[in-house]
Amino acid sequence: MIQPITSLTPTQRPVKAVGLISGGLDSTIAAKIVHDLGVEVEGIYFAMPWGCCDKGKAQQAADRLGIKLIILQLDERYLETVRKPKYGYGSALNPCVDCRIHMFSRAAQYMNAVGADFVFTGEVLGQRPMSQMRKSLQWIERDSGLEGRLLRPLSAQLLKPTIPEQQGLIDREKLLQISGRSRKEQIHLAQGFGITDYPAAAGGCLLTEQPFAQRMKDIFQYGYRNFRETIALKWGRHFRINKDFKAIVGRDEEENAALIHYAHSDDYIMQLSKNDGPTLILKGYHPSAEIFSLAAGLVQHFSRYKNNELVDVRYWPVNNKNDIHLIQAQRLTENEIEPLRI
Ligand code: SF4
Repeated sequence: MIQPITSLTPTQRPVKAVGLISGGLDSTIAAKIVHDLGVEVEGIYFAMPWGCCDKGKAQQAADRLGIKLIILQLDERYLETVRKPKYGYGSALNPCVDCRIHMFSRAAQYMNAVGADFVFTGEVLGQRPMSQMRKSLQWIERDSGLEGRLLRPLSAQLLKPTIPEQQGLIDREKLLQISGRSRKEQIHLAQGFGITDYPAAAGGCLLTEQPFAQRMKDIFQYGYRNFRETIALKWGRHFRINKDFKAIVGRDEEENAALIHYAHSDDYIMQLSKNDGPTLILKGYHPSAEIFSLAAGLVQHFSRYKNNELVDVRYWPVNNKNDIHLIQAQRLTENEIEPLRI
């Protein structure tokens, strides 16, 4: 059990706050500080459309503090933010300022719905070049509709006092003045709180990775049916056959199974007849014989049948596994494949 760090701030009424909890070190410490100041805390975890972050860690952090955690799914609305960010991109397709504005706007709605006094986060002034500079912190606060109601406990003493601080709902003196990229102070605080199992810093936003960003740009250009389709961008080899058709080829059994599991009901599944090769998911409406033939060539190319022999490939629509068809595949060459690769 973690011990409180300080006595409660006396207030006229119970104070309630909504905290963004990622399960990382900063948001966990922020929640610990606010909670120990006597504030009733509810946590929000935002689940990426492609599920990249550690929901389990967030739940663990919430359980450790004894606070409620709700999971909000990021969906098509979030993808629209990624597609057209007002404040631009970071190193790849990561629109960090807009991403936060989107999440914090939803946190603001939740704050109003549950009658909370403010929203807080684990942001640290100057920690990240794009989204945590003083100017971007201000943009995020303003554009998310949280002006005066967005508390950053780790850097609060370096920032303008928020409304809850001015009203005495939370004691500014008990908040911190951390800035910069070093995590030394947070690690030291975590040790004092008995928090040991937190994930490494800055882990894993797929939007910061070029291969994933390329695949995301491709679906932005040619279309997608719903946000769940972005899950498959994490797996396999991706090929743009033409503006209407795309193929994804699994690289191992695990990916093959995942691709089948997350295939859209309008997709087709293709495999070698003996099922001793990769699974291919064909995306697009009403493929012609020519498209099936090309996709079958991809299946053969990534199979063990490396010679130019003809092999049988079977395919069926996801929504009717009994509607099986057979096609003979002619292996595609590297030169034919390379221009299709996303
Ligand atoms: S790194 Fe990814 S999740 Fe984090 S703010 Fe940027 S876009 Fe959003």
